[in-house]
Amino acid sequence: MNAIEALNKPRWDDHEWAPLPPLTQNVEAEVCVIGLGGTGLSCINEALNLGAASVVGIDAVDVAAGAAGRNGGLLLAGPVDFHHDAVEKLGRERTLAIHALTERELATIQRETPGVVRVTGSLRIAESAEELADCQRQFTAMRADGLAVESYEGPEGRGLLFPQDAVFQPLKRARMLANSLRERGARLYGQTIARSIEPGRVRTESSTITAKHVIVCVDGKLEWLFPELLAEVRTARLQMLATAPQLPIVFPRPVSMRYGFDYWQQLEDGSVLLGGGRDKFEATEWTTDDAPDARVQEYLEKRLRERLGVTSEITHRWAASVAFTDTGLPIVRELGGGVFVVGAYSGTGNLVGAVCGRGAARLALRGENTLIAPFED
Ligand SMILES: Cc1cc2nc3c(=O)[nH]c(=O)nc-3n(C[C@H](O)[C@H](O)[C@H](O)COP(=O)(O)OP(=O)(O)OC[C@H]3O[C@@H](n4cnc5c(N)ncnc54)[C@H](O)[C@@H]3O)c2cc1C
Repeated sequence: MNAIEALNKPRWDDHEWAPLPPLTQNVEAEVCVIGLGGTGLSCINEALNLGAASVVGIDAVDVAAGAAGRNGGLLLAGPVDFHHDAVEKLGRERTLAIHALTERELATIQRETPGVVRVTGSLRIAESAEELADCQRQFTAMRADGLAVESYEGPEGRGLLFPQDAVFQPLKRARMLANSLRERGARLYGQTIARSIEPGRVRTESSTITAKHVIVCVDGKLEWLFPELLAEVRTARLQMLATAPQLPIVFPRPVSMRYGFDYWQQLEDGSVLLGGGRDKFEATEWTTDDAPDARVQEYLEKRLRERLGVTSEITHRWAASVAFTDTGLPIVRELGGGVFVVGAYSGTGNLVGAVCGRGAARLALRGENTLIAPFED
């Protein structure tokens, strides 16, 4: 392991947490959820809300050990594509339905886990005249559809302001939710890898879980678990860094730029978190390796110093895997026999993943697809 890989710890891991215990004996449950990131936890939450008699959740590592606890913390409403592009690809009705579902999910997250969300709005900043013209197209399309957007010009540059977007502390949110789910009776285990997944049965190294519904909530490396998804799903590595506090706050809202390929936010203590650069290193970043890599980190460091003007010391560098689809739509479906799969958010799963996790629980327990219909391919 080189020095950069050794640093692989997210800025969000800044509070006390007792890791989940491993599962060491056979158990039965009505619902078994595999993967305890934001998606899996939302799925368990919904299953309990719907009255599931018993729920078991397992994670190969621990709560939010993957992308869910290692991301940029941006809560952006809507599908992965900009509004005008999404309308062209998916149609107006579906795009607006996804927008409404993600906005509602943001309100749910605020209600369920008070104190982890800050409604700051977010910025899309143009890096070129061409991108600024694209911002104008997005502005026109959003206004025509009654969505909140403003033109923006400020210290970050020129572009668009989305006043209803937010940021959150993703790892804290996941851990708070996990604690409340355990209090409500969900049995959650860490260091427990699903080795085989079949209808009604999940085998781990040292146990068998028998469950009527098995819901797999895994984003990055989903194709490892289900090779039949290889034609639809491809894993990429996303990377970030964070700095020591630099005051005063110069970025009160999170920023996406270069068509969303680079993004950053400044926390209330002044530290700056910057991610992106994946598109600049296509050859190496389509990978299931989830350790930070020197080339992308060098790119991020240059952007931090030259574009953002941040001078304070870099304290964290980290990476995680996410899965992409060609359509930009996630995978949410029953594979058969009560096994459901949910994942592949093409880089923006904080809100969409939570919606889809809840939607999968409803599909499994009620046969109802209202939450996931707009995402279905
Ligand atoms: C650097 C980075 C920045 C990002 N920034 C943003 C952002 O600002 N906004 C946004 O919306 N999205 C962002 N994303 C994407 C977002 O983080 C993910 O889409 C989302 O967190 C996925 O959550 P999840 O719960 O579906 O999956 P994951 O977080 O991937 O969780 C899956 C869990 O399943 C477990 N698991 C895997 N295989 C097994 C197995 N066989 N048995 C048991 N457990 C298993 C893993 O340990 C993991 O904990 C970013 C991602 C990264 C990496």
